[in-house]
Amino acid sequence: MSEKKGYSLLPTTASGEEAQVNSAMAGLPTPPSGRLLRSLLKVFKLSVLMAVVVFIFFPRGDDDDNKSFPRQGHGRHSHERRGPHGGKRESKYTFETHMQADVDSLVAGSLESSIVWDRLAEMTDTYGNRIVGSEALEKSIDWIVEKVKGDGLSVTTEEVVVDVWNRNEESLYFLSPTRGAVKLHVLGLGFSAPTPDPVNGLEAEIVVVTSKAEVDELGAAGVLKGRIVLYNKPFESYNSDVVFRTQGALWAQEHGAVAVLVRSIGPLSLQSTHTGNSAAAKIPAASVSIEDAQLLSRVYKRHQQDPKQFPDWPKVRLSMNAKTALKSQVSRNIIVELKGRETPDEVIAIGGHIDSWDVGVGAVDDGAGCFIAWEALRQLSKLDRPPRRTVRAVFWTSEENGSPGGRVYAANHPETNTTRHVFAFESDNGVFDPYGIKFTAGRRSQEEEEETKFNSFDFMTAAGEHFLGSRKDLSYAGAGKIVLPEGGGADIAPLCKQGVACAHFTPADPFPLAYSTSPYYIKSSELATKGSRGRHGRHHRHHHDDSIDPPRRPVDSGYFYYHHTEADSMGAFTPDQVKNSAAVMAIWTYIAAESQVEL
Ligand SMILES: [Zn+2]
Repeated sequence: MSEKKGYSLLPTTASGEEAQVNSAMAGLPTPPSGRLLRSLLKVFKLSVLMAVVVFIFFPRGDDDDNKSFPRQGHGRHSHERRGPHGGKRESKYTFETHMQADVDSLVAGSLESSIVWDRLAEMTDTYGNRIVGSEALEKSIDWIVEKVKGDGLSVTTEEVVVDVWNRNEESLYFLSPTRGAVKLHVLGLGFSAPTPDPVNGLEAEIVVVTSKAEVDELGAAGVLKGRIVLYNKPFESYNSDVVFRTQGALWAQEHGAVAVLVRSIGPLSLQSTHTGNSAAAKIPAASVSIEDAQLLSRVYKRHQQDPKQFPDWPKVRLSMNAKTALKSQVSRNIIVELKGRETPDEVIAIGGHIDSWDVGVGAVDDGAGCFIAWEALRQLSKLDRPPRRTVRAVFWTSEENGSPGGRVYAANHPETNTTRHVFAFESDNGVFDPYGIKFTAGRRSQEEEEETKFNSFDFMTAAGEHFLGSRKDLSYAGAGKIVLPEGGGADIAPLCKQGVACAHFTPADPFPLAYSTSPYYIKSSELATKGSRGRHGRHHRHHHDDSIDPPRRPVDSGYFYYHHTEADSMGAFTPDQVKNSAAVMAIWTYIAAESQVEL
């Protein structure tokens, strides 16, 4: 996942800002006659859309769907209430009968074999990690393209110019006061400069801080000059703490520091140092494991508190030989396409990023994310007939190095009057037990909501309840059905900004009870009370189900046990989790591709 723009677990949408950008892009003001014509067109379009909505949702009398979803004027939130039979929730939305049969086929197909797991294991076992600029990335792309062709699917690639950073040799030693040169666990940060002498490194005293304010204070007092700043901020959340990794070098160089070390951004480490990008600064920047950051902090504290007994200012030697080559190579996005049977110019783009960091093998970030999208498309292709809309599984390249793959894709497939994206669905938060999706409605449906009375967030919530709410075959009851606000992602961001409806596949946190920093976290005391209200508005609820055991919450800090570390391997998840996730990805994709509504 991308670092420069913040973490995408809880992406924010700036719809006001986006709307301004859009009207600015539209150019000159519309003349009055054009405005009238546009208004008339809009009224006509809305009437057609409303007719379609009414026809799609209320087409039948007393079929099975309607029994499950009584619809006696309950309004937009009716599905959140308990139905007459206790367990069932009510909805004003019903779904065409054939959709259930298709969903059942998608699940059966996804659970039938461990092909996704097997393929991902084979690729990562063979080629290893896929950092941008590596032969391994391009060989992995070739390998996928061949396999997709073997699936009988249509596949193309598109070229993307990428920035390349190589860490090369690097080391960090704790020199004094201790027993001799103690080797520490270090990983240079992406786009970091090398040390001035890449071989012998630089030796310097360290200063330990936990905030930018401390950097500024100590900097003003001249304490940082010629020293290495160690940021040792205990983990609260990725969003709040990643700034030390991305900005810490810039802050410290202002005050004459010669390098920075950053405590790994994560809740837990078993000496598993966490890398990622840093803003390009003049001084080198590297991360150290949590344990090593704590070690250096203890020694520093002793010296600061009792300089008589501990007279030596702690000293380290950092050597880095990293090299950056901007726009120096060409990588590729992979696009697998299944043409829609009725409206092929309406496109659903699903996928993840094919590149990874250079530690571990990128199974979690984001091999599995790409591969479940690939499998979702493969399963959709096996239905008796393809969905109404076109579905593309996209393997975006170079997400970790600034996301040019996502931008190139959006530029190569622009939104036009005839061809457009109606839904973009990314998976880049790991693949563990499926939990649900984060979703943001598209601009069209938001703008038309007053007139159409159609709310696409409510529609997706009802769809999740309908197609996933009672499933017992996807690891736990109702797996994957929950719809949370704030869909988006680094690779689909260029589409979301243009008003396309966006979602992010959201697994359950693999370590749900420790280090809970998520706003969705449910304390065990709250589990007794169902449907407690969330903090951020009307849709932000805990859709808790008594049958869920153990308690689940959407992925948050548990993902960072693996993220950008050597622990990012096939050992992070099970074949069943991958199967279930592929099934859930396929179902949400199918809902978007088959329903004739404006998401
Ligand atoms: Zn990622």
